[in-house]
Amino acid sequence: MDTLSKQQRHAKAAIKQEQSDACISSAEREQARRSANMAAIHSKDTKPEMIVRRGLWKRGFRYRLNHKRLPGHPDLVLRKYRTCIFVNGCFWHGHGVTLSPVESLELIVNSECCKIPKTNLEFWVNKIRRNKERDKEEQHRLAEMGWHCITVWECELKPSKREETLDSIAFTLNHIYLQDRTGCMKAEVRGKREEELEMSMAAEDGV
Ligand SMILES: [Zn+2]
Repeated sequence: MDTLSKQQRHAKAAIKQEQSDACISSAEREQARRSANMAAIHSKDTKPEMIVRRGLWKRGFRYRLNHKRLPGHPDLVLRKYRTCIFVNGCFWHGHGVTLSPVESLELIVNSECCKIPKTNLEFWVNKIRRNKERDKEEQHRLAEMGWHCITVWECELKPSKREETLDSIAFTLNHIYLQDRTGCMKAEVRGKREEELEMSMAAEDGV
């Protein structure tokens, strides 16, 4: 028992507190238990960011972490690939949920990995809505600055999907790299052709 981390002890205490409240439903208790478990799990190296970092490092990619000067402080920044990677928690960033475009609580569709609690529904919906809007704005600003953005969702990193997800990120990064380089080469060729054309035109003018 002594080996329990402080966070795990807090998580346990939180569950006890929740359970002692006779008013809460079993669904809410289940939600609290799951949140507490997630908090305990995420406190260690199993954090989703760590999985992505280790997976990409192992595949030969190098990166910088939490770039403070870029919008949204991306979790990983791969300069060579001009790519920012965000590792998002499914609940906080509302993975797959549909929220009504107006301030209404009637048109909410939960997803497999993001179930908005019925208690304090309005608070959660507003919070997740704001997070989603901010994510969109930040990625838009990054795109304007010429960065590619990859969002990795927590649910895509569970053990059964992890390797497939990491392979797919690696594939996307290589694709971006090739595409950027081909784009540069095409521009170069175009530049050369224009240069030749200008030279021949200048030669003709000279005649
Ligand atoms: Zn998800």
